[in-house]
Amino acid sequence: MKNHILSQTLESLQDEFLKWGEARWRAGQLLDWIYRKHAGNFDECTNLSKALRQKLKDNFSFYIPPLLQQCDPGDETRKFLWKLEDEHLVESVLIEAPSESAEDGPGRKTLCLSTQVGCAYGCKFCASGRSGFVRNLTAAEMVEQFLGIERWNRSLSPTRTAPERLISNIVVMGMGEPLSNYEELLRALALLNAPWGGGVGARKITISTSGLVPEILRLAAEPEQYRLAISLHGASDSVRSRIMPINRKYPLDALLAACAEYQRAKGRMISFEYILIDRLNDTPEQCHALAAIANRFRAHVNLIPYNRVEGCDFKRPGQDVIQGFYRELLNLGISATLRQEKGGDMNAACGQLRLRKMQDLKRGPGSS
Ligand code: SAH
Ligand code: SF4
Repeated sequence: MKNHILSQTLESLQDEFLKWGEARWRAGQLLDWIYRKHAGNFDECTNLSKALRQKLKDNFSFYIPPLLQQCDPGDETRKFLWKLEDEHLVESVLIEAPSESAEDGPGRKTLCLSTQVGCAYGCKFCASGRSGFVRNLTAAEMVEQFLGIERWNRSLSPTRTAPERLISNIVVMGMGEPLSNYEELLRALALLNAPWGGGVGARKITISTSGLVPEILRLAAEPEQYRLAISLHGASDSVRSRIMPINRKYPLDALLAACAEYQRAKGRMISFEYILIDRLNDTPEQCHALAAIANRFRAHVNLIPYNRVEGCDFKRPGQDVIQGFYRELLNLGISATLRQEKGGDMNAACGQLRLRKMQDLKRGPGSS
């Protein structure tokens, strides 16, 4: 099978071009077409010779997954559902949000990236976990989520004068557990980070994990300064193990020791994600335990009210409980944000659009 063009680096393309007897600098021209001018096939790269375009076609795939569905479940989120070459579905989310930190600057547009089809970790509240693991995404399929949205944005502008860049930040919080697809993830992020590629700074890229301790330690030893978000969702082993099976393998002690190592290696780069679920992890005891953990790392906490997932019995706590939990964290001196998604319907959280679509396809035509 041919390698995908989106898995290639500037260096690998320069080597290839030299082998073909082409000038090395042409590799930069090609990448400029792909990442700046958003070409979707080799023939659009009109300042490359026909012969070179033919060589590219003979040697590389430039498959682009069609955009199956696009929706707008909340004020600030837009979801994209793609159909991969083997017909599996994967989704990405574009989030327009005010800055969480001053260094992000205004007008942040964040891509929420998926790394796998489904997920093997089976968290009880999560749509991606409920449908099981299908396969890892390749680096090219991750890069394509970024470029697919950039191309979509450009297509909105009839004169094709859209800015070169739409996406300013990346959170790897879509479908899948990124750290269990470690090599392809790091390859994709290197391409999205490279100045000749996606051009997104490492500090604007956040990897979210449910807590794979060995891979957190491995990432800590890498040179890149990616941010790390830990899906905590429970501040004691008993609560966390009830909703996240991974906690039985890597309990909080081990997870927090790995976080300490990450922080030692990289500085203050950790945040905690905490979904609030009615009568499960929304108690004052959990709030205080969460504050103690966040305090230990001087880490930011993102509170996310639970979004309903079909077939799942959990409930979102009442507004008073959500607000009370949030205020108490702030009172305890914790830096926290409450992500109040307006699109609280079943399509709002990552993985849910795909789950819905798969259920529709199973039900057959006529369903919406
Ligand atoms: N596997 C990684 C990467 C993202 S998981 C991890 O667990 O960190 C998908 C994201 O969606 C997580 O941040 C999780 O917090 C969020 N999420 C999953 N199900 C949700 C639900 N029902 N309501 C709200 N957020 C949810
Ligand atoms: Fe997988 Fe993350 Fe969902 Fe857990 S929360 S099932 S690790 S995608």
